[in-house]
Amino acid sequence: MLNLMQNWPLVVPRLLDHAALNHGTREIVTQTVEGGLHRSNWAEVAGRARRLAQALDALGIGIGDRVATLAWNTHRHVECCFGIPGAGAVAHTINPRLYHEQIVYIANHAGDRVLFLDLSFVDLVEQLAPQLETIEHYVLLTDRTHMPIGRSVDFLCYEELVAAQTGDFAWVEIDENAPAGLCYTSGTTGNPKGVLYSHRSNVLHSLAIVQIDAFCLSSSSVLLPVVPMYHANAWGLPYASAMVGAKLVLNGAHFEAKVLHDLIIDHGVNITGAVPTVWLSMLQYLEETGADLGSLRRVIIGGSAAPRSMIETFANQFGVEVMHAWGMTELSPVGTIGALSAAGSELPAEAQLDLRCKQGRALFGVEMCLKDEEGALLPRDDASSGRLMVRGPWIVERYYGHEATALDSDGFFDTGDIATIDPLGYMQITDRAKDVIKSGGEWISSVQLENAALGCEGVAEAAVVGIPHPKWDERPLLYVVKKPGSAVSRGDILRFLEAHVAKWWLPDDIVFLEELPHSATGKVLKTVLRERARLHVEL
Ligand code: ADP
Repeated sequence: MLNLMQNWPLVVPRLLDHAALNHGTREIVTQTVEGGLHRSNWAEVAGRARRLAQALDALGIGIGDRVATLAWNTHRHVECCFGIPGAGAVAHTINPRLYHEQIVYIANHAGDRVLFLDLSFVDLVEQLAPQLETIEHYVLLTDRTHMPIGRSVDFLCYEELVAAQTGDFAWVEIDENAPAGLCYTSGTTGNPKGVLYSHRSNVLHSLAIVQIDAFCLSSSSVLLPVVPMYHANAWGLPYASAMVGAKLVLNGAHFEAKVLHDLIIDHGVNITGAVPTVWLSMLQYLEETGADLGSLRRVIIGGSAAPRSMIETFANQFGVEVMHAWGMTELSPVGTIGALSAAGSELPAEAQLDLRCKQGRALFGVEMCLKDEEGALLPRDDASSGRLMVRGPWIVERYYGHEATALDSDGFFDTGDIATIDPLGYMQITDRAKDVIKSGGEWISSVQLENAALGCEGVAEAAVVGIPHPKWDERPLLYVVKKPGSAVSRGDILRFLEAHVAKWWLPDDIVFLEELPHSATGKVLKTVLRERARLHVEL
């Protein structure tokens, strides 16, 4: 027998309709890319997103088409993230910090038909355009007065595109299981892999993260998502904000502590979220200036582990609660959040802090377990560490364009993180099985860096490991074995790498070894090198 309840598709535009109708005057304030402040609200953003969908429709963009953005967090980018799915298309947020070959690969692999970009990326896009095989229209997220002239790419003007529409347009009717968003992850080896979010997965993820024991978002929230929208839709925060009618404060292309601090104070921000590196700069700024954090009450920290001292300083000096969260692009991205459980709140202060330093408890919708190398389940005893496996309705099943499932035979996705889980359900990341380095919240692929180094004349073997860094969390260290008789130097290799990888990928140091440690099967023993690297740092 079928149920007798309504079938009300969980689609992204409904979030915006809800915000416009019930929280229409709730503001969206942007520190613009052009300079200056822009004030909008949910009603206005909804009207403009609808016109954007209409404009896309007029350009012949429809169901399933991929539409990319290379953009900062602004009101216009928020409009894109609703307007593109509203046209039935897929909002593909590209990370501009990736190195150029990766951006080209991603846009071509996704088959993006339109690219929306901020003024900051005009030069980049002009340079890459000849290699972008599928893009038919480039739209600059600005107004007529800021449109550049004499460029080799024929840019359309976003404001003109939106203004030219009547707004008399119904969101394209679409199944809740249709794709709404696409985000590539470059964390692992090989080419970046696309995670294709559905309307339903975005809405369910929003429902989960707004909860009181999650990010505790409501219509009283004034949220500054410093985490960029190209990181899994700013951790899903703009969608969740529409769901509850939170006020949004957006920092555009500005990440300096002073600008963020001014935004927090001037607009009464009470919750914000970013990777630890951002908060390290902020705490330093507060120390130097003696400033406080105004009405800020909560900071969401994820992407890398939140240091204990950071959690303590926020709480003790500023009365701000750190909500430690763990997730990944494949999880839309939130998996666990470190809000204190009832049992946790009964513990002594020091033990509570221990809990807050862990990555948190699973949200409803995230089934989480630990498996050993043979795939056997491990106990939740706070001691057994194993591969962290997850399954749920906003977790990847298969990467975009891949034939094979990304799941094991039990339907679990292997996160590549190594963790423990305690009897209260708190998960703690203890190591990483994936061979990558996370620097300032962005990935550096050690394999790609090694391959680049191997291209340098005189390099016989190369291995890259992450070393702890006070500001960036991790930085790459390159170990090199020279070819017999080669006089290749540190400077030679660095100069060579400069031409082949993004500047921020360059290793902090290069160490020459007679040979690399190898396993019986000939694999480089990264564990041994990591231990060696730790000593290298301490020296
Ligand atoms: P995001 O863009 O949200 O950072 P990625 O998919 O790029 O997501 O990175 C996910 C990975 O980052 C995780 O698998 C884990 O290794 C690491 N990570 C995320 N959050 C945390 C955290 N709170 N503590 C430690 N590592 C984390």
